[in-house]
Amino acid sequence: MQSGTTGKLNIKITGIAEAKLENTLMLGKKLPEKIKYYKVYEDKPALFLDRDGVVIEDKHYISDPELVELCPGAKELIIETKKQGNAVILVTNQSGIARGLFDWKDYQLVTDKMLELLGGTATPTAIYANGYGPNQSYESWRKPNPGMLIKAAKDLGVDLKRSTIIGDRLSDLQTGVNAGLRQLIHVLTGKGHKERPLIQKAIESDSRFQAPGTIVRLIKNLEELCIGS
Ligand SMILES: [Mg+2]
Repeated sequence: MQSGTTGKLNIKITGIAEAKLENTLMLGKKLPEKIKYYKVYEDKPALFLDRDGVVIEDKHYISDPELVELCPGAKELIIETKKQGNAVILVTNQSGIARGLFDWKDYQLVTDKMLELLGGTATPTAIYANGYGPNQSYESWRKPNPGMLIKAAKDLGVDLKRSTIIGDRLSDLQTGVNAGLRQLIHVLTGKGHKERPLIQKAIESDSRFQAPGTIVRLIKNLEELCIGS
């Protein structure tokens, strides 16, 4: 798989989006017909998932693939969403790269381990990652900047207004509203317990969370979304 970092931009795209940009790669494999894949998701809602604390357990700047563990329900939710024909798109801030704690190679090893644990049927449609730090938010993809979601919408053609984002931090949900999403889900896994009061405060006082049609669901973990599926 190519490294995916793009010159001065501290970002990485894996999956269909990368395939469309690079014309050859989809998770390391040649794409037979990139356009066919692209059209599959046009004008459909997507499920955006934060990575750390939502799909894999938050291990504080994880860089060791041996520490990768799936969060409860992550695999099942991805399988179910894909079965419904919708894209599952991971959007992850990796400021450990800007902080010098690890590099894109380490990120890739962690990603590979996550994909191995998820298995083929639960492979996300695309993964957008950025290695910016908190002081580099200008023009970066770092959440709560909606850049990764907007790029995904451009790459895959998904309908942001009908899409959902699930995160363990307020910044994940802010990313959602900043990109025009109306369905926001907060989980208690990862940093979720610490951030829940911030989410509750945002629901009460941040007008973006009160926009017509906006629904914020507060749940325990992804397993709650898989019940009955
Ligand atoms: Mg997180």
